[in-house]
Amino acid sequence: MPFKDLALDPRLLRSIQHLGFDKPTEIQQEAIPAVMVGRDLIVSSQTGSGKTLAYLLPMMQRLLKSRALSKQDARALILAPTRELAKQVYAQLRLLVANTPVTAALIVGGENFNDQEKILKRQPAIVVATPGRFVDHLEHKTLFLHGLEMLILDEADRMLDLGFLPQLTFINKAADHRLRQTMLFSATLDHAEVDNLALALLKNPYRVAVGAGYQQHQDIEQRFFLADNLSHKEALLSYFLQQQDINQLIMFTATRADAERLTGVCEAAGFTAVGLSGKLSQQQRNSVMQQFATGKFQVLVTTDLASRGLDLLQVSHVINFDLPKHPEEYVHRIGRTGRAGAKGQAISLVGPKDWPSLQNIEAFLRHAIEFSVVESLPARFSGVVAPMQQPKAKKKASTSAKSSKPRPAKPDTAKIKAPSYFEGGDDGSGPVRRKK
Ligand code: AMP
Repeated sequence: MPFKDLALDPRLLRSIQHLGFDKPTEIQQEAIPAVMVGRDLIVSSQTGSGKTLAYLLPMMQRLLKSRALSKQDARALILAPTRELAKQVYAQLRLLVANTPVTAALIVGGENFNDQEKILKRQPAIVVATPGRFVDHLEHKTLFLHGLEMLILDEADRMLDLGFLPQLTFINKAADHRLRQTMLFSATLDHAEVDNLALALLKNPYRVAVGAGYQQHQDIEQRFFLADNLSHKEALLSYFLQQQDINQLIMFTATRADAERLTGVCEAAGFTAVGLSGKLSQQQRNSVMQQFATGKFQVLVTTDLASRGLDLLQVSHVINFDLPKHPEEYVHRIGRTGRAGAKGQAISLVGPKDWPSLQNIEAFLRHAIEFSVVESLPARFSGVVAPMQQPKAKKKASTSAKSSKPRPAKPDTAKIKAPSYFEGGDDGSGPVRRKK
């Protein structure tokens, strides 16, 4: 894909040409379009992947194309952990602003404060800074961030390792409004503090994990099982609870009601289980998470990624009772297990409602997903959702199933007596439901 397909401003395309780059790097291809449609972004990337232009280009695009929210305040702020990195970023930025009306300034520690004050009084549109010195200026009221449109954290993990959390929190508060777009870059996303920071700063972020994100995780065995409906999913769940050697398990569900009910299913199977419901206060949620982290509960059933902030080394299993809508989330969920060299199992149940998500995950992982089968609990659903309204549901369903090419399935050899899950069919999954 050439750069021109990214629909960037011609002035930016000329600068890129000048730099001698013909096509975007992988991270640029993933990140630039997402930022250009207004998404917040969280990226795991290494230096050398082209991450700097991955944020500078869409940032410049927004500044060139949209009206400033405020005439006085900085429109974009790029924070970097070290003076060296800030200077490198600034050098790349200068090439991009050269033929545009956009102004930029570099504000790092170790340089004359008064000189910097004079620079900031000229109201640059973009500031590249290290967090400590930047907060000194904010406190000194040299500049304000009420009109900040883009906040970019480069090497967020290093900033946190260097103890800049208070400064980042201060800056976030000073620039807290709903029109702000935020991008967070980190060498790793397996960093408890980065997770917390992302939760505090980002709104429904688009996740890019170049390299590691979609490659097979060596330590996580991923298995997918087709399921006809909610009852069938529950039967499969009971089977896994009996058969698997579970140390700790995190189970993700689509709805709160399911989370509450499935907590009971796990308890009935002899596990200590807790559900994280949205009804709990933040303090209560933190307390539940702490208790899970310390091993008081074996199973955590949740609708969201509440587990982000904690390094949960005892989690041997993740079960996706329902698939997440966004494929990046799938990678993040299964990444709750197989941490720090331990082996993990990720089991995903795929019903008709999950099918679109499954297709997104397949595209994201860049390989076809194979299904495993529990021999005593086979699914009739073969991966094709028949149309919703059918007068002769039973007949059409079977036709549709035949015309589809069923996915290859790996048998799971364990045998247990099948519960009569066919009677229920209570998730409205339609034509594939069996009737007695
Ligand atoms: P970064 O990861 O941002 O530190 O970039 C690493 C190096 O890749 C820098 O020297 C960039 O100038 C260079 N670079 C960035 N984007 C591209 C591109 N699309 N094609 C070739 N080189 C690039």
